[in-house]
Amino acid sequence: SIPVLTIDGPGGAGKGTISRLIAERLGWHLLDSGCLYRLTALAALRKNVALDDEAMLAQLATGLDVEFRVAGAVTAVLLEGDEVGQEIRTEKVGDCASRVAALPAVRTALLQRQRDFRLSPGLVADGRDMGTVVFTDATLKIFLTASAEERARRRYLQLREAGVDASLSSLLREIQARDARDTQRSVAPLVAADDAIELDTTSLSIPEVVDQLEELLAQ
Ligand code: C5P
Repeated sequence: SIPVLTIDGPGGAGKGTISRLIAERLGWHLLDSGCLYRLTALAALRKNVALDDEAMLAQLATGLDVEFRVAGAVTAVLLEGDEVGQEIRTEKVGDCASRVAALPAVRTALLQRQRDFRLSPGLVADGRDMGTVVFTDATLKIFLTASAEERARRRYLQLREAGVDASLSSLLREIQARDARDTQRSVAPLVAADDAIELDTTSLSIPEVVDQLEELLAQ
């Protein structure tokens, strides 16, 4: 069957960057599953659907009209034909995403859509439950972590580079709140799969992590 590398872990551990780089290096497809939850949240905000209306949100998730337009290193994200790549990255949409992601019917609604990304020659799947729920038969499962302080520091530097003024302490609080919600929810809580390899990236550079993953895949 088509190989899958799953990369799960808490927000800010570097999953997005690492997944993109390793997918590029291997020439594999990429699934950013968080993006689907963010898009569901944005669709709900736009349509004024309450973030606890599970049935309506599941219906939104099922009917989500999205398109990923890959152009070199950048992928444009379109929701109902509208470019929303910037908007879905905002703190507000991220927060709403983690709320809708706690609803079982929403997760079920997005399951097949995620599995459809498994295309030849292979897939790198980035998220929280890629190895535990969506691709339980993955070729290699990685659980990527870093200390909350280090993740806050990385986010801070990223924002500063983008010209955004942020406070390190409030970023740390946001990360801790998101961690708590993702690990404590009753459905698909954030946890490493039994057969996942845990990789703590606190003191590793991005190229070091990518190299380690490539070595693991080659084994
Ligand atoms: O990874 P990202 O920050 O884009 O994900 C946004 C939110 O979507 C997360 O906080 C998490 O609650 C949810 N999510 C999830 N399962 C995934 C990916 C993301 O529950 N596989």
